[in-house]
Amino acid sequence: VEPKFLDPRKGFEENKLHVEIRADPLTHRHGRVCNFRFKIIAKPDLSGLVERSRKQECPFCPELIEKATPKFLKEFIPEGRIRVSEAIVFPNSMPYDRHNAIVTFSGEHFTEMKGFTEELLVNAFLACQVYLKRVLAHDSACKYLSINWNYMPLSGGGLIHPHLQIIASDFPTNYHEELVKGSERYYEENSRNFWADLIAREEEIGKRYVGSIGDVSWLTSFVPKGMMMDIAAIFRERNSILDLSKDDLKNFSNGLQRVLTYLDDQNFCSFNLAIYSGLIDQGYFWTNARVVSRFTIPPLDTSDINYFEKLHDETFIVKSPEDVCGELKEYFV
Ligand SMILES: [Zn+2]
Repeated sequence: VEPKFLDPRKGFEENKLHVEIRADPLTHRHGRVCNFRFKIIAKPDLSGLVERSRKQECPFCPELIEKATPKFLKEFIPEGRIRVSEAIVFPNSMPYDRHNAIVTFSGEHFTEMKGFTEELLVNAFLACQVYLKRVLAHDSACKYLSINWNYMPLSGGGLIHPHLQIIASDFPTNYHEELVKGSERYYEENSRNFWADLIAREEEIGKRYVGSIGDVSWLTSFVPKGMMMDIAAIFRERNSILDLSKDDLKNFSNGLQRVLTYLDDQNFCSFNLAIYSGLIDQGYFWTNARVVSRFTIPPLDTSDINYFEKLHDETFIVKSPEDVCGELKEYFV
């Protein structure tokens, strides 16, 4: 569509913009891409926020974590909390589901986006896996598994201290269900795996395919779930989070570091991440992750989520996924 208006910036001459309405190939959800080539000119200064958070007691800092965080029930995890190197898993004290845990994975209260080492990330994801395996051994109905991250308050993070959230449930979230059911439907209709076809097609087109590290392929989503960017990682031929090897987690963490470095260079300081797991023992869904950058719009720090996304369930995108891919590719060479 090409909306027209008389533009005061051009002496009220007629101007038209190009808005592309796209549909996601799997979920068929729409999004509007209007490529304004929007840039964040200066990195927001987080120092005041971090300082303020240090003045309050942080339950995830090493001196308080033992006293201030919950423990699992004895019949579930007798040792109370799960530890993998620096990573510690414990129950969420404000749970969304039957099994909802938190993972802290660094003793540092604040880590900038570029500061997450591969080792920190791998240990965090390994700890998630250990927890999820324990959940399934205890409660086998929990088929829907996900690992999630709100980095910084701007993205919904309640604490500055880096932490992941794990969900294991017999009841999927709306979007997780759309992904799984869409993949199942695609498999029934085409006798092919959607994710394999998506990677092959994107590699062929070349406009949104970023690169692969080991068996993890990265691309930018055709219909982003964020106003600026939505970067996807697909674990090839891995059905479930539980199928991921340590090498897979290393390869993913390596790619994630590159993505976070790119976001940092683009002056972002916040993001959301989700890793959606498929069901164990099926062949139609491959575990995949999404990273969506979060930001505010100057000069009034306007939110990047407005009525369109909140109440119409539709994203308005101001930077094309093809432009994002072109920039991000340079970080994957
Ligand atoms: Zn802390």
